[in-house]
Amino acid sequence: MNNLYLGKRYHTLDYFFKNKFGCKIAKIPLSGDFSCPNRDGTKSVGGCIYCSGALSGDFAGKPCDSIDKQFSDIADMMAKKWKNTKYMAYFQTGTGTYAPVGKLEYLYNAAISQPDVVALSVATRPDCISADCFRLLEKISKKTYLTVELGLQSVHDKTGEIINRQSTYAEFLDSFNTLKNLGIDVCVHLINGLPFESVDMMNESVRRVSELLPWSLKLHLLHVIRGTVCADMYEKGEFRTFEKDEYVNLICDQLEMIDKRIVMQRLTGDGKREDLVSPLWSIRKFEVLNAIDAEMTRRGAMQGDKA
Ligand code: SF4
Repeated sequence: MNNLYLGKRYHTLDYFFKNKFGCKIAKIPLSGDFSCPNRDGTKSVGGCIYCSGALSGDFAGKPCDSIDKQFSDIADMMAKKWKNTKYMAYFQTGTGTYAPVGKLEYLYNAAISQPDVVALSVATRPDCISADCFRLLEKISKKTYLTVELGLQSVHDKTGEIINRQSTYAEFLDSFNTLKNLGIDVCVHLINGLPFESVDMMNESVRRVSELLPWSLKLHLLHVIRGTVCADMYEKGEFRTFEKDEYVNLICDQLEMIDKRIVMQRLTGDGKREDLVSPLWSIRKFEVLNAIDAEMTRRGAMQGDKA
């Protein structure tokens, strides 16, 4: 079939980058030592119920190191893995817009000045981008290819309360539309398997976000991490996690309902295996991705077939 995305049945980030930049682009996860208003007491102290103390960035550089050192340590490892690669610097940990604008400007500029960096990605909360920060993001987007990742997780505010998200769907829409109007590509995060959500609710989140036509989507599988509120709830039997087959079917259904222009950056979860309580099958990430490929092939389906 000649309409595959580098052999996949969904619009991969590799495919997008190869078309845009003509080469492999590797992401370098950096830490700007950002906190999160949902942990520092501004909105709440507990954080989202599934969030590990690592502020959702278990694989990033060390916050005590300079951006230069974090970058060169990780880029050296990447260069051994892939030849002739260029880089997207990625502020993944904490809330990547949660600092005075002067500090943000310094960090973003430090990141995009590293060798062979052609793009920057900033992950943040939708309720945490000030007017000054929007202006800064616009300025940075004129210097490099910029994407902003917004953690939504679910379009349902009822779920937002259960997971202690401390922000609303309306706030997400405001930030999403402002970024889009500034010409900045937005990646939206959703989580499948949140406590008390039905499959219909998860699919509704996917459909409604797809209709907004973000540049990209990350679909996470909820990982129950030791020491979190979520782990307590799970251990008390308040909710269950997916079996592998159920999850593979769900993701394939969702891929079919997502507009084919949307770049799929993630289809499952990622986390430290020693901290994972459930679902343990998700540790073998490549097996999960292979099972998704196999099911899409069995169906003869492509992303967007039912959009
Ligand atoms: S918004 Fe992100 S960093 Fe903050 S508590 Fe929630 S998951 Fe953790």
